[in-house]
Amino acid sequence: MRGLMQDSPLTIDTIFRHAEQHYGDVPIVTNGPKGVTRSTYGEWADRTRRLGGVLDTLGISADGRVGTFGWNSQRHLELYFAAPCTGRVLHTLNIRLFPEQLTYIANHAEDEVVFVDRSVFPLFWPLVDTMTTVRHVVVMEDGGDAELPDDPRISDYETLLAAASPVEFDVRDENLAASMCYTSGTTGNPKGVVYSHRSTVLHTMAALSPNAFGLSVRDVAMPVVPMFHANAWGIAQAAPAAGAALVFPGPMMQPEALANLIVDEGVTFTAGVPTIWQGVLPHLAGKKHQLREIGCGGSAVPKALSEAYREQVGLPILQAWGMTETSPVASSGVLPQRLQDADDETKANARARAGVPLFGVEARIVDADTLEPQAWDDTATGELQVRGNWCAKEYYNPDAGVELTTADGWMKTGDVAAMSPDGSIRIADRTKDLIKSGGEWISSVDLENAIMSHPKVAEAAVVGVPHPKWDERPLACVVLKQGETATEEEILEHLKPLVAKWWLPDAVEFIDEVPKTSVGKFSKKDLRAKFAEYELK
Ligand code: ADP
Repeated sequence: MRGLMQDSPLTIDTIFRHAEQHYGDVPIVTNGPKGVTRSTYGEWADRTRRLGGVLDTLGISADGRVGTFGWNSQRHLELYFAAPCTGRVLHTLNIRLFPEQLTYIANHAEDEVVFVDRSVFPLFWPLVDTMTTVRHVVVMEDGGDAELPDDPRISDYETLLAAASPVEFDVRDENLAASMCYTSGTTGNPKGVVYSHRSTVLHTMAALSPNAFGLSVRDVAMPVVPMFHANAWGIAQAAPAAGAALVFPGPMMQPEALANLIVDEGVTFTAGVPTIWQGVLPHLAGKKHQLREIGCGGSAVPKALSEAYREQVGLPILQAWGMTETSPVASSGVLPQRLQDADDETKANARARAGVPLFGVEARIVDADTLEPQAWDDTATGELQVRGNWCAKEYYNPDAGVELTTADGWMKTGDVAAMSPDGSIRIADRTKDLIKSGGEWISSVDLENAIMSHPKVAEAAVVGVPHPKWDERPLACVVLKQGETATEEEILEHLKPLVAKWWLPDAVEFIDEVPKTSVGKFSKKDLRAKFAEYELK
């Protein structure tokens, strides 16, 4: 017997139409050097339909790749919908990538047009001749004042929009590509993930659910996570689907500007990587705000950071785990009912985990070579593998030998994790960041968490450095809070009751700043390179 229910394709134009029909008066705000620009979903919808017309006028192919090179803004949101809703494929270029990587991904994706914020135009323009398929560069005025050359490839966003006619959006095939995003490629070439309309709609529903971000018409959502980093974690689709007002920081990414925007615009939900919240904390501490949730992920959320927010801002941080390859939200650490009355320490420990997979994603931990399942006893570790309808099956035209899924259909994450009996995930490390000491593994994440609980420490990153006897030993790279001084002994004494004796770092280096990746995470790769010749005493 067959079900007798309607069956319509899960396409992104359904999100668009819902927002257009029901949330026309809901505000969209974009910050800029000259202050905020105010608009509504109604205006956004009209402009997005006309942007579809612009893509036709420019002659972008039926499934042509539409590149973007910009900050979080309303125009970026227009592109997020105009490209996929006309059957094209949105390709968000990460403005902080190295020039060679940008050239590589624009050519690999075969971008036909790139929409560039004027403030970052000088980063983009020198590369344009290396991008062999790019025929048009459309400049978006974001308050930047970069000089624009006289070149026939360049046009102005608003001029094109003013001249364009609105188009109908009607995508019929939910398995069409909707957007693509390249992982920042810590090893080898960047790898392209291609989201479908269907995967995006399903991910949107999951991101909306209360076990994840729980967005609704009551919210004012501010994605600090860039729209070029894994779909701004789905907020760019989830907010329109829910009718949540949107606040975009634009190029104003300085911690103080972010804190002021949160306060001034009554933001209730925001999300970004831990280093962002580290910077914002002193500017938000003690201020009156409307926040109900601060989402955080992309790397381990230090327990000390979440607790500092609970104490100084009035709410702890919500940790989530995911990857570009998982759209990206796959698990989250919303505390279950049974922990509501637990003591602060128990709750803080629970929040330091990546949490339980969202409905729609399954997770397992296995031996990476034999695929032997590991026990869910919170002690045994293995490679975290996931599967579900918003997890990637394969990369777009990958280099030879790059395999994303196992023979039995699970996606390899490259993360090492333990799972509690109820399947809550505790990320131990990225495989490549684990420290191999005498045949045993040391978790750099656990060590960093322990060091960052020292009251004088602002940031800590731990990397393995070569050791003649043990293969590798941990080196702690520590950034002290402003005005503080500390000794190696002080840090090690603090660690002694917190970690196994053989995990204690062999040395502590005090540094001014932990190098960051293009998406603001600790760059262990750069630290390892810096200390490759480190002589342990
Ligand atoms: P990349 O950092 O390689 O550019 P992604 O942004 O897709 O690309 O990063 C995904 C990775 O980020 C995961 O594989 C994991 O190592 C790390 N990560 C994400 N969320 C968490 C978390 N909550 N705790 C620890 N690590 C995390």
